[in-house]
Amino acid sequence: MLMTKNKKILLHVCCAPCATACVERLLANDRDVSLYFSNSNINSKMEFEKRLSYVEKIAGIFDVGLEIDIYRHDDWLEHVRGLENEAEKGLRCVKCFEWGLRRTAQKAAALGIESFATSLTVSPHKNSRIIFEVGNQYSGFDALDFKKQDGFKRSRELSKEFVLYRQSYCGCEFSIN
Ligand code: SF4
Repeated sequence: MLMTKNKKILLHVCCAPCATACVERLLANDRDVSLYFSNSNINSKMEFEKRLSYVEKIAGIFDVGLEIDIYRHDDWLEHVRGLENEAEKGLRCVKCFEWGLRRTAQKAAALGIESFATSLTVSPHKNSRIIFEVGNQYSGFDALDFKKQDGFKRSRELSKEFVLYRQSYCGCEFSIN
């Protein structure tokens, strides 16, 4: 994976477990990383706060900055209206990526950070090609595929080492089995 040395990057983090291997790799490549927790897709405020608390934990472990977006689940539901019955990896997820990546692009611009990426690409449950298609709509998107080089395996190892909460569903109420 080619990365530019010492370049600032805002990393959209879906959850702490996925973020671990991404942050480790970015730091190893001398990127100046800040995290952005923007996850209005999460089904309840309680779950949002729980996942956020573990993201705060890894921000401390890696000593990186953390920005937190407001929780607007009702607006997110409106954004995906009509796609509630889509299977995971379907059109609802594309709209969900749009929501998170657009907000991350806006936040990066507001902070004067020239590029942004997302931890979503570390998961084998997410299609990186589709995430890249969505991300490339926004200026500054860095198409980093964190699942390469055993990224997901590394995220599992680090999650265990840091004793992180590993949720059993993606995030929205439609992903709960
Ligand atoms: S399953 Fe996950 S990616 Fe898909 S819409 Fe729900 S929260 Fe978003």
